[in-house]
Amino acid sequence: MTPFLLVLYLHINIICSKIIIRGICKMLLYKDIIKEGDSRLREKCDPVSFPLTNDDIKVIEDLNEYLINGYDDKIVDEYDLRPGVGIAAPQIGVLKQIFLILSTDEKGNLHHYAFLNPKIISHSEEKAFIPSGEGCLSVEREVEGLIHRSKRITASVFLYDFNTKKVTKEQIKLKDYIAIVFQHEFDHLNGVLFVDRIDKTNPYFIPENSKPIVFDANNLEGDYEEKGN
Ligand SMILES: [Zn+2]
Repeated sequence: MTPFLLVLYLHINIICSKIIIRGICKMLLYKDIIKEGDSRLREKCDPVSFPLTNDDIKVIEDLNEYLINGYDDKIVDEYDLRPGVGIAAPQIGVLKQIFLILSTDEKGNLHHYAFLNPKIISHSEEKAFIPSGEGCLSVEREVEGLIHRSKRITASVFLYDFNTKKVTKEQIKLKDYIAIVFQHEFDHLNGVLFVDRIDKTNPYFIPENSKPIVFDANNLEGDYEEKGN
């Protein structure tokens, strides 16, 4: 093989392997997330069965990769991703009770979960809201208004372990910001979008029992505004 042919061969090989890698291990992109107006976002999702199928695991891992990639500015720029703090399976057209959260809370603590078949078993009467409003990877327009959600929730969930790929049944208690993200994602499993929960006649109305989430770490609130879920 002449040096020219060798270089050409290696070059083609590199291009092919890149295409194969991207073809087989296709990572989720922002364009893969279905947007408001798609009827699949309005469906009720089915519970997953155990043991999880390989397809279920792939959905969880793909959603997880999307959230993780959202924290990498280089990947965000290269693939034109819109970062998110949470994402639910129906947002990629999979109508199953699966959602993930990857975010810090108002105090800067990291939360990283994959929830399956979640049920909210109790919630506080006290409400909380994000002063800058909520965002959603499936809603591309600017939305005015506040969403008041339970300040504390107790949920029964199946929790997926990213390392062992095993699932355990847990009862969890969440509060404030992460409880709000949980309820936003939980709504997706029932075909509800955050825009549905805004008081149309008085979008900035604050009920007496609702308090703003106070972000005490750096610019978390600004960070949230950029990220949907
Ligand atoms: Zn959303």
